[in-house]
Amino acid sequence: CPETSKRRISILGSTGSIGCNTLDVMTHLGGREAFDVPAITGMGNIELLAAQARQTGAKFAVTADPARYDDLKSALAGTGIEVGAGPSALIEAGARETDLLMAGIVGIAGLAPTLAAVAQGADIALANKECLVSAGDLFQDAIDSGGGKLLPVDSEHNAIFQVLEQDQRHAVDRIILTASGGPFRDFTRDQMAAVTPETAAAHPNWSMGLKISIDSASMFNKALEMIEARHLFGMRPDQIEVIVHPQSIIHSMVGYSDGSVLAQLGAPDMRHAIGYAIAHPRRAGLPVERLDFARLAKLEFYAPDEARFPALGLARTAMQRGGLQGAVLNGAKEIALEAFINGKLGFLQMADIVATTMDKLDDGRVAHSIEDVYAADRDARDVAASLLRQSD
Ligand code: NAD
Ligand code: MG
Repeated sequence: CPETSKRRISILGSTGSIGCNTLDVMTHLGGREAFDVPAITGMGNIELLAAQARQTGAKFAVTADPARYDDLKSALAGTGIEVGAGPSALIEAGARETDLLMAGIVGIAGLAPTLAAVAQGADIALANKECLVSAGDLFQDAIDSGGGKLLPVDSEHNAIFQVLEQDQRHAVDRIILTASGGPFRDFTRDQMAAVTPETAAAHPNWSMGLKISIDSASMFNKALEMIEARHLFGMRPDQIEVIVHPQSIIHSMVGYSDGSVLAQLGAPDMRHAIGYAIAHPRRAGLPVERLDFARLAKLEFYAPDEARFPALGLARTAMQRGGLQGAVLNGAKEIALEAFINGKLGFLQMADIVATTMDKLDDGRVAHSIEDVYAADRDARDVAASLLRQSD
């Protein structure tokens, strides 16, 4: 087929868990025969980034780390692949013309490059939940004016997207996000106080990046997802419920005003949500495990224990307060998470740092521009870092 008939997909964060799964799905859906790759980005793993660029025939490869420009340049010498490094090159990667952009960077670092893709009207497959948590309405407004589709890749939101009947949105009562409960589901508070980053990073069902795995163990991931759901689906805070479902087979549910509940089920494999977003509005054949219900035998559900998982309550507070509290929650959480990973903070204290930071920055500020979002993120990091120093 002629070059121009290929679908163009750029990937931000191609070297991460979402990025690698995206490339795997693209290989299954036809690889270089089917797709052009205008841009891919990574950070420290130059070898993998270069291998991916060669394998996909990417036009532009970017490392987020400016100090690694020369390494990437020499790894791709002679290939004709353009190389870039640092924040402005990341934004340029997002701005390169494409049909679909996979937003797979972790954290607020993904916001600016994703917005660059939104502005050029690309469809956005959104894994990088921090974009919506921090920038909220601003991000949605940018999508509306950019004209592209927003396709949720977070498995819960992808599930809701699949069962949310577009012409019945007014009849939605509630959204029910499922949570596996993580590795500490049955731990006591005392046991949780003593856990290490290594045990927190071992997720029982999903294989994911380090930060999201630990966020799953503390349920800060679910907290971010509650805020993400509010923005994606235009729900009130009281319409968003969380239920612990250890098997992770039901990926989430939508409850309607007539009492009906629609759920999406599947194996816990991110390639499903990624493949769904890439193939949308069609469905493509995907190499994911088929459910064997007789073998599954039972699906369990529990109310989350908010005393052991205070992150959920913090998400509700952030949604009720509105404004920039989502950005504050996320920024403070990033600092607390880093301190936990570095052995400087206990597992349960992460929520204390976030709660105090949110209270200190509960000043009614709203975002008029992306700079306001960055300012709230910076302030939250500063406050959280000073709280950490005080507790040293
Ligand atoms: P990961 O840590 O495995 O990969 C992150 C990617 O972003 C890597 O390519 C890394 O090089 C890049 N990156 C990291 N820091 C960066 C920075 N400061 N600037 C630019 N690039 C940077 O993370 P992941 O698990 O793939 O998660 C990516 C996003 O998707 C997160 O927002 C996460 O919450 C979300 N998500 C992930 C999963 C999953 O299964 N992994 C599921 C749902 C949602
Ligand atoms: Mg999720």
